[in-house]
Amino acid sequence: MNAKHYLIPDYVLDFKCSKCTECCKTDWKIYIDDKTAELYEKIAQSDELFAEEVKNNFKKAKNGKKEIIMNNVFEETDDAELKKDSSHACKAGCSFLLTDGRCSIQKRFGEEALSDTCKIYPRYITVTERGHEIALSFSCPTAAAKLKNKNQIQFYYDPEGYNFVDINGKYDKIGNFMDRRKHGKTNYFDIEELLIDIMQLKEMDIETRLILTGIVIDKIKDGDLAGLHRYIEHLEIDLFKEIKSISTNHTFNLKFIKEAIDLALMFILRHHDTKKLLVTAYDDLEILNESIITTEKIMKFVDGYNKYYRPFYDNISHIYENYFVNYIFSKRFYNMKYIEAYFLMVLFFILIRFFVVCLCIKEERKVDEDMIIEVIRAIDRSIGHNDTYYKSLLKMVKTEGYTKLPYIISLIIF
Ligand code: SF4
Repeated sequence: MNAKHYLIPDYVLDFKCSKCTECCKTDWKIYIDDKTAELYEKIAQSDELFAEEVKNNFKKAKNGKKEIIMNNVFEETDDAELKKDSSHACKAGCSFLLTDGRCSIQKRFGEEALSDTCKIYPRYITVTERGHEIALSFSCPTAAAKLKNKNQIQFYYDPEGYNFVDINGKYDKIGNFMDRRKHGKTNYFDIEELLIDIMQLKEMDIETRLILTGIVIDKIKDGDLAGLHRYIEHLEIDLFKEIKSISTNHTFNLKFIKEAIDLALMFILRHHDTKKLLVTAYDDLEILNESIITTEKIMKFVDGYNKYYRPFYDNISHIYENYFVNYIFSKRFYNMKYIEAYFLMVLFFILIRFFVVCLCIKEERKVDEDMIIEVIRAIDRSIGHNDTYYKSLLKMVKTEGYTKLPYIISLIIF
C-alpha cells in the first residue's frame, strides 16, 4: 500500500482536541458510515447493554443511513450527583455522551469504534494528488482559538511524525489533471495558491483583499493561468481606491443581511451561541426585527461601526485572514463554482462583521479577538457547512442578480 502523504497548515498540525464535548452537545445530524454501523450490529449481538443502546439511540435517516438520536437539549445537567455517575447519558446533544463528558462508545470499545464523522471532526479532509489535505471547522472552540495566531499561516508537506487515523468512508477527492479538466478547474491548485497569497497580503485591509479576490475570480478562464497573472500584474492600485470610495448603500447592505439571516432562521440551530447573536440583533438592538430597515436603525449600526469596530480593526484583521485562508484551503472553490464560493466567502464576512458590530453596540465595548471568535464559532456551528441553506440562499440571490461581481463587492464596502 502506498504511504499516505499530507499537506497540512500549521494550525491543523497544532490542533489537539481539548475534550470540551461542545461538538457532542449539538443538534447536528450525525450519520454513521456503513462499516461502523456493521461493527455496532456485530458488537450488539454479544453485548446486551450495547444492543439496548443501539435500539434506543439510533434512528433511520431519510438517506437510509443510521443516525444518532440527538437530545433536544444543549446544556449539560448541573445535578452534581448525576454528574458523578458516569454511567448516565448526560442528555445534552448526543445520546452516547455521558455525564462525565466521555463518549460511552469510545469508553467501552476504544477510539477505533467511533464513526468516521466523530473521528474526523473538526477536520475537513480532501485527498488530492498532493496528499491528504486537512482544514478545520471553527465551530470547535479549540480550533477557533487557533485563529488568534498573528504569524502568517505556513503549510507543511509530510510533517515529521504526523499521521491521521484511517477512516472507513470515502474522503472528499480532487482527481488528477484530466478529472480537474472535466470539472473546468485544470489549474485549481495554482488558483488556490494565488487566492491564499492574496488573502495573506497584510499590507491591504481585509475588504481590499476580498475585493481583489473577487476581481481575480471574475477573470479566471480555465487553463489560462498565464493570462490571469498578466492581468494581476497590470492591475492599478488606484482601482481599489476608486472601488472603495464608491459610497456605500447601507440600506441595501443591511437589507441583504436581514434577508440572509431571516432565511437562515429556517435552518439555524438552537444552540445558545447562535441564540445570543439573534437576540442581540432582533430583540435588544431591534435592527432586524422589522422588514423595513429605517434610517434610525442604519444610524445606530453605522455609529456602532465607527465607534467600536473600524478604529480597532487592527485587533482582528489577522483573525479574518486566518479564517479565509482556511476557507480557501477547505476546497470550497473546487467544490462550488468559483463565483458562488466567492459569494459565500463574502456572505461569511458580512455576517461576521454585522454580528460583531451588534455585540459591540450592545456591550458598549470595542471589538477584540474573543468577540470575533465567539461570532465565528456561532456562525460556523449554525450555517458553516449547511448546503441546504447555501442552495436556498443562492437560489434567492440569483433571481435578484446578486451573484454578479459588482453586487458582491458592494456588500463588502461599508
Ligand atoms: S468541540 Fe473540539 S475540542 Fe471540544 S470535544 Fe469536540 S473536537 Fe474536541
